[in-house]
Amino acid sequence: MKTKITKINRKKPEEKIIRAAAKIIKNGGLVAFPTETVYGLGADALRAGAVKKIFEAKGRPADNPLIVHICDEKMLAAVVKEIPEKAFPLMKKFWPGPLTIIFKKKNSIPDIVTAGGNTVAVRMPAHPVALALIEKTRVPVAAPSANISTRPSPTEAKHVYEDLKGKIPLILDGGHTRIGVESTVVDLTTKIPTILRKGKITSGEIKDMIGPVLLSTEKKEGVVRSPGQKYRHYAPKAKLILVSGGSAAVKKNIRKYPKNRVCVITFTERKDLYMKAYKTFIFGKRNDPLRAARSFFSLLRKCDEKNADVIIVETPPKNGVGDALIDRISRAAS
Ligand code: AMP
Ligand code: MG
Repeated sequence: MKTKITKINRKKPEEKIIRAAAKIIKNGGLVAFPTETVYGLGADALRAGAVKKIFEAKGRPADNPLIVHICDEKMLAAVVKEIPEKAFPLMKKFWPGPLTIIFKKKNSIPDIVTAGGNTVAVRMPAHPVALALIEKTRVPVAAPSANISTRPSPTEAKHVYEDLKGKIPLILDGGHTRIGVESTVVDLTTKIPTILRKGKITSGEIKDMIGPVLLSTEKKEGVVRSPGQKYRHYAPKAKLILVSGGSAAVKKNIRKYPKNRVCVITFTERKDLYMKAYKTFIFGKRNDPLRAARSFFSLLRKCDEKNADVIIVETPPKNGVGDALIDRISRAAS
């Protein structure tokens, strides 16, 4: 299959391009499209045969469920069995936006979407291209990140092409994504709402709207609430080491690999400190976690392009989206 990349206006998506993309999805095919978080790989969520193609293209394990994307609250009714009270303030405040909510699922959602479970993850993306595409298809669109399973999530169309060329017919190129890490996932089917994945929207912001929430890591029992979290994720080809403890600790780690190509990902303020590194990449200024989160996945792919053997990442500050970023870096490292 030939993979076409079509440039699209991210603010005012061209009607003709959206129509062609929607046609592919309506015919049971796959389209990669930009969202405000990362690029998604979309299929008609109501057709098991179409959704199966997502798992095949990505090499995604069948027990890792997908997020269903909607364009308005009317569409939510086609997906979920009931809307719990606490969902309303969250939807009002954060939709469209980078928050995924877990609901009880309706029977019309095929098992393959939810990995056989009775809950479904739903999100309304804050991106004109994603919204226009869903609106045009008039069906909920199941879409995980548009990368090969275990690889860093794609924040540019060229990353999608690297991973999925020959496997999907169309990539809509809306430029670099704005946020760069995946959505926050909150489960509202548990007695106390549970954060299953960290993202741009923090647990503090969610608490402010609906009261106490748990972090899935705080659960004692070994039950996996968010299946995606148990897999290796975001992995570059090189070995990745997350280093805290400042420039001395980074230098010490560089010295451990004298015979290897060691790339360092650090902050603008420290970019000239690591003379012994093979290459230094910058996150942006240290007090700008938004910028760091936005660039992290693409920097991992750049290190791979340079054939790095080892990647040393300096720990960013934990405030705001920094917490979610540290989560992603740790997963890329393990
Ligand atoms: P991705 O779309 O690749 O960014 O991954 C979607 C994330 O949402 C994964 O971590 C999934 O495990 C999680 N997820 C999707 N559906 C559910 C669900 N019904 N219950 C819990 N987690 C889910
Ligand atoms: Mg993913």
